[in-house]
Amino acid sequence: SLGINWVTTWVAKTVDVVSTNRLRLVDLDREIGDGDHGENLDRGFTAVATKFASLPDDSTPGAALKLVATTLISTVGGASGPLLGTAYLKGAQAVGDATELDSDAVVAFLTAARDGVVLRGKAEVGDKTMIDAWTPAVDAATAAAADGKSPVEVLRAAADAAAQGAVATEPLVAHKGRASYLGDRAIGHRDPGAESSSLILAAAADAAD
Ligand code: ADP
Ligand code: MG
Ligand code: MG
Repeated sequence: SLGINWVTTWVAKTVDVVSTNRLRLVDLDREIGDGDHGENLDRGFTAVATKFASLPDDSTPGAALKLVATTLISTVGGASGPLLGTAYLKGAQAVGDATELDSDAVVAFLTAARDGVVLRGKAEVGDKTMIDAWTPAVDAATAAAADGKSPVEVLRAAADAAAQGAVATEPLVAHKGRASYLGDRAIGHRDPGAESSSLILAAAADAAD
């Protein structure tokens, strides 16, 4: 099962993957947005890392995830900050004060996180947003947990589905966010938020290994 060390490792790996992919995410956002997505996330997760440096030793996963949420909400300008922040906040609430997460808890976390993004941004699958990564991830995680898979396997299934979901945004017209102003000109470009969400979920699976 996954405890506080999973959350702190997830954050460390996210900081890494966001910084490594900063320019690529900026380029994706330059195609169909305002070119700041990589900077936004890099600033946000760098701030999270700073906060985590003084995380109490006896922190629960839920408390740590809530710290990710409040930090992203207060440091990331742009749509993605409040959206991802709400994902972590609702996910943290679903985890509650559990010290270890089993496969069902991982599914509850991911489902609440996705529902948080929907609550905040009102996007549906196919709108060419981060929801196109999160919802397939939740579906794959749910199926994997029902199959009796371990928490690590559940997270890996979620990450793989999110990566496919991000690629599948390429042919879509956007119905939410800045890319929705472009109409057909958004076709052929991958949604930056779907791509970053798939990277974040891959980091979650890597952290659980
Ligand atoms: P901004 O568009 O304000 O510059 P970012 O560039 O950081 O913010 O984030 C853009 C990403 O946010 C998009 O690629 C998309 O995935 C996501 N996004 C935008 N609006 C919504 C929404 N209403 N629901 C879900 N995701 C959204
Ligand atoms: Mg942007
Ligand atoms: Mg912006």
